[in-house]
Amino acid sequence: MATTISSATNSERLQSYDPSTGQVIGSVPIMTAAEVDAAVARARIASQTWSTRSHAARREELTAFRKAIAAHADELAELLHRENGKPLLEAYVEVMMALGHVQHAASHAEAAMAPKKVSSGVLANFRATISYQPLGVVGVIGPWNYPLNTPMGSIAYALAAGNAVVFKPSELTPLIAVKLAEIATKTFGLPDLLQVVTGAGATGAALAKSAIDKIAFTGSAGTGKRVMITAAERLTPVLLELGGKDPMIVAEDADLDKAAEACVYGALTNAGQACVSVERVYVADAVHDKFVDKVVEAVRALKTGGDDGHLGAMTSPAQVAIVKDHLADAVAKGAKVKTGGIDAISGSYIQPTVLTEVTHSMKVMSDETFGPVIPIQRVSSLDEAIKLANDTSFGLGSTVFAGDASVARKLASRIRAGMTSVNSVMAFAGIPSLPFGGVGDSGFGRVHGDEGIREFTRVKSTAEQVFPLPMNMMSFNQPKDATKRIKGMIKTLYGEGIVAKAGDLLRKLRS
Ligand code: NDP
Repeated sequence: MATTISSATNSERLQSYDPSTGQVIGSVPIMTAAEVDAAVARARIASQTWSTRSHAARREELTAFRKAIAAHADELAELLHRENGKPLLEAYVEVMMALGHVQHAASHAEAAMAPKKVSSGVLANFRATISYQPLGVVGVIGPWNYPLNTPMGSIAYALAAGNAVVFKPSELTPLIAVKLAEIATKTFGLPDLLQVVTGAGATGAALAKSAIDKIAFTGSAGTGKRVMITAAERLTPVLLELGGKDPMIVAEDADLDKAAEACVYGALTNAGQACVSVERVYVADAVHDKFVDKVVEAVRALKTGGDDGHLGAMTSPAQVAIVKDHLADAVAKGAKVKTGGIDAISGSYIQPTVLTEVTHSMKVMSDETFGPVIPIQRVSSLDEAIKLANDTSFGLGSTVFAGDASVARKLASRIRAGMTSVNSVMAFAGIPSLPFGGVGDSGFGRVHGDEGIREFTRVKSTAEQVFPLPMNMMSFNQPKDATKRIKGMIKTLYGEGIVAKAGDLLRKLRS
């Protein structure tokens, strides 16, 4: 059941604000645990029909959903702009990326979930098959920074895999989710296939506690841990997409113009409020000063606020306070402000800030800042850059710029992170066939790509006997010399390695 937007502002409703003005732009119900459970129960019924549909039928409905979202692109982008604070251009980019996920998931689910025949090993008389089945009902909890695209990275893949979805948006951005649910209700033959439950943290906790089959959570590491603890009560599997402290490495032979351009975009798009923002930059000593000059020049040319601004309002005052705290801490510990800084913060607008002379003792180099700040550290070698890049509990995205492609690839493989862009920034997030996710405090599990489809399935293994063998291993009825025969088999198959040799031969034949 879709919630409706209204201008009512009583205490049982959650108000949504325009962060650039602080004005209320709508409100939604604060749903109770009973209402969440009821939504999950309705989703369960929808899932029973949806899961039995063919891939072609699901693809058709998801295509209609995609077209309906595209038809409402103006409305969705306007809502994103008003509710999240991001510039209209970035809002449209977000709508486009979300559409890309619906398209990708719809067209790839059948192949990703196709049953696979696998080797049956010593049980050569068996056909061994792996198949993928829908889970049932998937709960999705989303953040406020990309309130459409990020949850869609789970919603579209879960739906395409044959599940129903109950989505709890952030309390800061519920209106966009409600609009999405309205579109879904009108488009899907099953009205309860994609539902939105609104409210604050307690509503999210109720969803994590409810009778869902998996929870896909995107948000901070702290809340992610709470969600996992709650989900443990029912042993509900969790997928956690958490924060990051993404490093960027710039080698001596990198194209500095391109690296600086990528750095500025990667650190400042969405006013730095992206889980895969460039949050730390390590630059080879020989090119450090030149790189800093280029970055500062590019940053000074950007406009904050206004209809044509590059950076919009920060979505929440709490985030502005974190950025201020990180800047104050860095300056107190010796960082140099090249442009921007605390004094240039006005209300919900933060002028992009470039810091140099930073160290890992500063919060700006260790904690997620989630704001328009570019801290740049000089390094004496690429080994030092890798050591510093990996000096974090997070491991989400990362960026490498180097002239020598083999050096760049080697650096990429040495960074402990789920994703790396080479000679570009954030590109992994724009390629729906690449799995997206992190390691360590950045979470686990993957959205997007085939892995992102299979995250919302359960693996079913089937062993089918095709013909009988004289000796049936799965029986108590054995010949008298069974022990002798097994001893012989151990020696021949594994001692002399016939199974391994046969495997080697097969691999050779296949290659
Ligand atoms: P939060 O962790 O504050 O909230 C995330 C979601 O969880 C919100 O919908 C929130 O609801 C809900 N929630 C809060 N408390 C609970 C609870 N006890 N049980 C269940 N749900 C709860 O994150 P933010 O919204 O502040 O998002 C920013 C964070 O998300 C950053 O750390 C960022 O890096 C990360 N992120 C990660 C991405 C990734 O793919 N790895 C992508 C985008 C963001 P409410 O808002 O109503 O309190």
